[in-house]
Amino acid sequence: MISSSCRIGIIGAGTTGAYLASLLDQQGFQITLFEKSPYPRTDGCGILLVQAGMEALNQGNAQICKAIINAGSAVKRFEFRNLRGDVFSSEAVQYCEDELPGMLVHRKPILEAILETVPSTCFHFGAELESVTQHSGGVIAHFKDGQTWEGDLLIGADGIVSKVRQFVVPGVNLCYLGDLVWRGIVDDNTFCPDGTFLVYARGRGIYANFFDIGNGRTHWGFFIEQQQLGIEKGALLPQDDAIPSKELAKLPDDARAIIEATLPEAIVSRYSYDIDPLPQLYNGRILLMGDAAHAKSPSRARGMTSGFEDALTLSRLLASNTDIDEMLAAFQLERMPIVHEYQRTSREISRKIGRSQKQAA
Ligand SMILES: Cc1cc2nc3c(=O)[nH]c(=O)nc-3n(C[C@H](O)[C@H](O)[C@H](O)COP(=O)(O)OP(=O)(O)OC[C@H]3O[C@@H](n4cnc5c(N)ncnc54)[C@H](O)[C@@H]3O)c2cc1C
Repeated sequence: MISSSCRIGIIGAGTTGAYLASLLDQQGFQITLFEKSPYPRTDGCGILLVQAGMEALNQGNAQICKAIINAGSAVKRFEFRNLRGDVFSSEAVQYCEDELPGMLVHRKPILEAILETVPSTCFHFGAELESVTQHSGGVIAHFKDGQTWEGDLLIGADGIVSKVRQFVVPGVNLCYLGDLVWRGIVDDNTFCPDGTFLVYARGRGIYANFFDIGNGRTHWGFFIEQQQLGIEKGALLPQDDAIPSKELAKLPDDARAIIEATLPEAIVSRYSYDIDPLPQLYNGRILLMGDAAHAKSPSRARGMTSGFEDALTLSRLLASNTDIDEMLAAFQLERMPIVHEYQRTSREISRKIGRSQKQAA
């Protein structure tokens, strides 16, 4: 095992960074978790946490997995409809005995369940990383407020617009996937009954999904195909964030009514991006994980799961290696083919379900 006196800094207390901190703290490492927001960012919407993600949590900490099962709704049915509202495919999801379910759940209880397992002494909120320097065998993180942290290993789990990534693979651009997406949470337990994930297949330039996230609430996502104007290129958030009524009118009345019943403060909007597969996941003693390393289209719902898998892999390799540099090489060897495949197939599906290659490029 790599010595527990090894000092590990993690940038970003999203689900990837927080889960990694939880696992490594459990193993006795000296962890410092830096988050630019002044408080835990428990905002967000509904998440489909596929079985692999639940497995990755259960293997690391069964208590977190259990809390998520209690907070959401197990996936029971996928149903596909056209824009007239006709069901053209409906698949019940069967689970074997002792198999963990895929979960439909708000991001908030997921992050809260993880954060509860991390000692408060590990956290530094309001700490925005600005740059990183390396010297023989060590790494120094520099923060906006002038503070520095020095340690043996720095993990960049700082999301799709990663600052740490610049020090591993400089010059990575976000790739626009061709959709502007709105997501919301509404009090309703009738439109998507118990564990239903409902998809309105892409047509006439829109696509939508609705799913039950438990506790009488429904999550929805509404996507419209839209070219990005030059001024917005690379920006995650649109300037005008109202759903155009002529686009919403393409949905059947019952689906549209769910979106229209949502409180404005429970709606978020953003352009959808991914990144190209990176040629490397680490440089010296800086390692990337989660969206910072492999942000992908949500079409396969592997985003959060792949961050949990990264964290679990790193914690296992820290326990089974004695040398940090060899451990980092082993991490890349194991994870890179997996995350590249997630990125490739997620982008492929995202393009296949309707949008033209030209528009998405
Ligand atoms: C529309 C949409 C739908 C999705 N649906 C699903 C789904 O159903 N299932 C699924 O598994 N995934 C889904 N995802 C993907 C999933 O949300 C992400 O993959 C996951 O949240 C990434 O977690 P992360 O911790 O790696 O990054 P983030 O959650 O982005 O966390 C990064 C953290 O780093 C902090 N940070 C950033 N920069 C700095 C800095 N310089 N210094 C300090 N801190 C910093 C941020 O404040 C943030 O807290 C979806 C994504 C989108 C856009």
